[in-house]
Amino acid sequence: MDKHEAYRELGLPHTATDEQLKAAWRRLVSRWHPDRNPSRDAAHRTQRINKAYHHLRNLRDEEADAPAAPPQPASKPAPKPRTEKAPPPPPPREVTVRQVSLSLEEATLGCVRTLRGRFTHACGTCQGQGHRVLASACTRCQGKGTLPKPALFGWLWTQETCPDCEGDGRQRERCAPCEGKGQRSISYRRHVRIPPGVRAGDELSVPGTLHDGIELGLELRLAIEPHPFFTLEDGQLRCEIPVCGYAWAANQWVEVPAPEGLQHMRLNRDALVYRLRGQGFPERPNGPRGDYIVKVVPSFPETPTAEQQALLDQLAAASARAAEAQPDSALGRWRRQLAGWQAKAAPGTKD
Ligand SMILES: [Zn+2]
Ligand SMILES: [Zn+2]
Repeated sequence: MDKHEAYRELGLPHTATDEQLKAAWRRLVSRWHPDRNPSRDAAHRTQRINKAYHHLRNLRDEEADAPAAPPQPASKPAPKPRTEKAPPPPPPREVTVRQVSLSLEEATLGCVRTLRGRFTHACGTCQGQGHRVLASACTRCQGKGTLPKPALFGWLWTQETCPDCEGDGRQRERCAPCEGKGQRSISYRRHVRIPPGVRAGDELSVPGTLHDGIELGLELRLAIEPHPFFTLEDGQLRCEIPVCGYAWAANQWVEVPAPEGLQHMRLNRDALVYRLRGQGFPERPNGPRGDYIVKVVPSFPETPTAEQQALLDQLAAASARAAEAQPDSALGRWRRQLAGWQAKAAPGTKD
């Protein structure tokens, strides 16, 4: 929306004063507000009216703040600095701060969260007052602002401030959109995309959407829930898993958990720590993924079953035969060394 469209939306000439601008905006919002206007176009019109008003308001404030602004003609009052304007228009943008707790998988892979909540703001129609002050005199005190109050059994009369007009003698009209409360509550529901690689304590700013003529932004404070087996240390995803010691000795494949689900990994009886490339935590939000470190803890049964014992005996026997057949193997060399030592060291064989 440009400046010309904004003026057209509010039905004003470019020469309108700040007061005229505000008056036109209030009149149009009160006419088009969806709470009072059943037309299907009401919400859209209210949005456009608010947009036009805030756009022109900002333009005028910028002009007022600009140091090189040309001097105003003497006939027109100079624009007042922002601080003197009262009462302020309803905030065009409100920010709600929310905590969002993510699982480690969600933080690693990113996710979409649906956030619901209620948000309370000052009523834009009555500027948070709960009522509108009319030009007519207060009907209760007839515009005097005070009411006579009998004291001492009616012998003396004092005056008290009229509670209806709070002493200014002008009639008030209860604000319908906020039912006189001065505040309105809107419920919101937002789908928020959390990028992969966010850390605990990160803050995420969600672009605002218009609710009830107010732009509602969300500020998310992220937390990451502790995980039963994954850990994140210095940005590195790790996991320690027990594996069957025999499977490890046999270089078998095992299933290991990764953020996406179970993965197949080939064990290697020479290694306890494995690095799964590109399957870890992103180096930075939306960045490439680091490595995932898996530490295996081979586990052997304390008491093997009879079947396991028989197989282990077979394995040991096969291993001994193999060592004999390969004199250059580590075990074969050791046997020869031991035999030589025994021959030398045996008592009674020395010269
Ligand atoms: Zn109100
Ligand atoms: Zn009154």
